[in-house]
Amino acid sequence: MNQKSTQSPAEDIQANLQKVRLGIKLACEKFGRDPDHVALLAVSKTKPISMIESAIALGQTHFGENYLQDALTKIEEIKGKTTPIWHYIGAIQSNKTRPIAEHFDWVHTVSSHKIAKRLSDQRPSHMPPLNILLQVNIDAEPTKSGVKPEQLLELIQTILELPGIQLRGLMAIPAPASEFELQRAPFKALGDLKQQCIAELGSELQGFDQLSMGMTGDLDAAIAEGATWLRIGTAIFGERN
Ligand SMILES: *Cc1c(COP(=O)(O)O)cnc(C)c1O
Repeated sequence: MNQKSTQSPAEDIQANLQKVRLGIKLACEKFGRDPDHVALLAVSKTKPISMIESAIALGQTHFGENYLQDALTKIEEIKGKTTPIWHYIGAIQSNKTRPIAEHFDWVHTVSSHKIAKRLSDQRPSHMPPLNILLQVNIDAEPTKSGVKPEQLLELIQTILELPGIQLRGLMAIPAPASEFELQRAPFKALGDLKQQCIAELGSELQGFDQLSMGMTGDLDAAIAEGATWLRIGTAIFGERN
């Protein structure tokens, strides 16, 4: 990917998407995962609308964005007969929850009751509940966002009754690691946490079945440990500036 490409961006995206899809298929075979339970979220942050449209034309339906203003422009422009499904995966400022609640289908980065409550209150009543994942600070890095694992159950109990959101699972962005087994450990920890929540709260947790984990550099390890959403940017759209 460091070599200068002579292809047009649309051709790049086609080749890249094919490669990523094949990689997911092979990893699913290797680790005994059902490929229908491993979805590809194309992370299009900083990338132009033309690239998103290319990916849509190639059958990609889920897109992830981090920067709200940029995302809202894209969402407005792309509205049409092939409207994609938008996921918000960036940091959430509490004064920015309304447009997120109004324009996205999923949010992967909720980590407080305050934000969850605002998203629920601001979700328009004609729309289905907003799908929410709780971001967990899985390797307990002091500077990282996300709820601490030991505070997760308590947080879940305070948001379960909120009518405008539907809690769907957990998300994490572990510290980058180059070795496969090191990549795998925090993903396993996130999967174990999800199981613990289900064991503790049982039937209160309807639809709590999603794990958003794995990016371009560690998707195989994430698939091995049960990822249901892979958030892939670079491998599809190329390096970001
Ligand atoms: C940018 C980003 C990604 C995609 O990262 P790549 O390494 O480009 O695949 C995934 N998740 C989050 C939260 C991101 O901010």
